[in-house]
Amino acid sequence: MLEGQHYQNAYITRDIEKALEGFRARSAGAKVMRFEGPVEVTTAKARGTAISKLAFIWINNLQYELIQPVSGLVDIYRDELPDDDRIKLHHICMRVPEWDDFRTRVDQKGYRVVLEGGERIHAPVVISNADPRQTQKLLGAAADPGWSARVEEIPIEGCTVKLNVLLRELPDFPSRPGKNEPHHYGQINAPLTKSEWKAGFAAARRGDLPEHLWCEVYFQSVHDATVAPAGLHTMSVFAQYVPYKFSRGTWEERRDEVRRLALGSLGRFCSNMDSAVVDAQVLGPPDIERKVGLTGGHIFQGECLPAYMWSNRLAARTPMKGVYLCGACTHPGGSVIGINGRNAAIAVLKDTGNFR
Ligand SMILES: Cc1cc2nc3c(=O)[nH]c(=O)nc-3n(C[C@H](O)[C@H](O)[C@H](O)COP(=O)(O)OP(=O)(O)OC[C@H]3O[C@@H](n4cnc5c(N)ncnc54)[C@H](O)[C@@H]3O)c2cc1C
Repeated sequence: MLEGQHYQNAYITRDIEKALEGFRARSAGAKVMRFEGPVEVTTAKARGTAISKLAFIWINNLQYELIQPVSGLVDIYRDELPDDDRIKLHHICMRVPEWDDFRTRVDQKGYRVVLEGGERIHAPVVISNADPRQTQKLLGAAADPGWSARVEEIPIEGCTVKLNVLLRELPDFPSRPGKNEPHHYGQINAPLTKSEWKAGFAAARRGDLPEHLWCEVYFQSVHDATVAPAGLHTMSVFAQYVPYKFSRGTWEERRDEVRRLALGSLGRFCSNMDSAVVDAQVLGPPDIERKVGLTGGHIFQGECLPAYMWSNRLAARTPMKGVYLCGACTHPGGSVIGINGRNAAIAVLKDTGNFR
């Protein structure tokens, strides 16, 4: 059942250096990225950490992945390795536009999906960090109808975009010139005027892109050089407002435009943005939804506006016995604050008679 856009061929090998030499000999100048380290994986046998040497090579529109398994949960590769140092095709990857539709068709065909796991662990208390819509889905018929209705009332459609950027050098801001300055060690904001904020929100609401995005950026590599290849830097950009769904085109079709818009919005404040960028990954709300499992790609597990805050936000306790929420959907809302988890822990301790 092959469908979607074919974007990757992956090969396993005992000698990634030799395999890479072969690719370079055949396609001089191809873009190559290397990675070695732990990756959380699910195989047909278990879930765990795999350590592999990986190389990604881009030739025309296809990405080639080379995998040399090293240690940990690498049976999925190791068990198929050829005896010598040649490469062996391991899998191909297809991109499907709608995951849920695709899975429905897989289920209808009756195929067994082995890599999703399926282990069930029974417990008297379940504290869910998944967003409320996901929790509701997981509960199925056990979800209280009143609680479900409340969950469904909370808007949960993201309006933010994330860019993970690889840089040749750090941005140089003419207002504070220099390419390794104290401000590169903190958070930098590319501001908007009040009217730009308003127009940008209205544009995203209509399913359009604004003229400029507000951007918040960080450079992880100035604190830890090991997160980027030698001499390069990482920059994460958090920007808004963008639509979840475009009125014209899809995220796939407009991803490059969003990339140019975000980097251009930031580039207004620095002199070297265009030449500094090596590559950028653009993750809109539907990508965050697919990758992280956050419904609507909403980073706060539901709107953080007054109508959905304080006593109006979901509580850690639910009407379902033994089911608690500990995520950003609960009071006091989103951000990395830890209070949601603390509130849930206290509720569980109290309800189980263990609070002192
Ligand atoms: C791009 C981005 C930038 C952000 N920037 C900032 C910032 O600068 N400052 C800040 O304070 N906050 C920021 N936030 C918000 C902050 O990350 C969240 O508010 C915070 O992470 C919420 O934490 P949480 O523990 O409630 O749950 P989340 O971090 O939302 O985690 C929910 C977890 O549930 C899991 N899950 C989903 N479905 C299932 C399922 N069916 N079964 C099991 N697990 C499931 C997900 O995989 C995920 O791990 C940002 C968020 C994003 C996405």
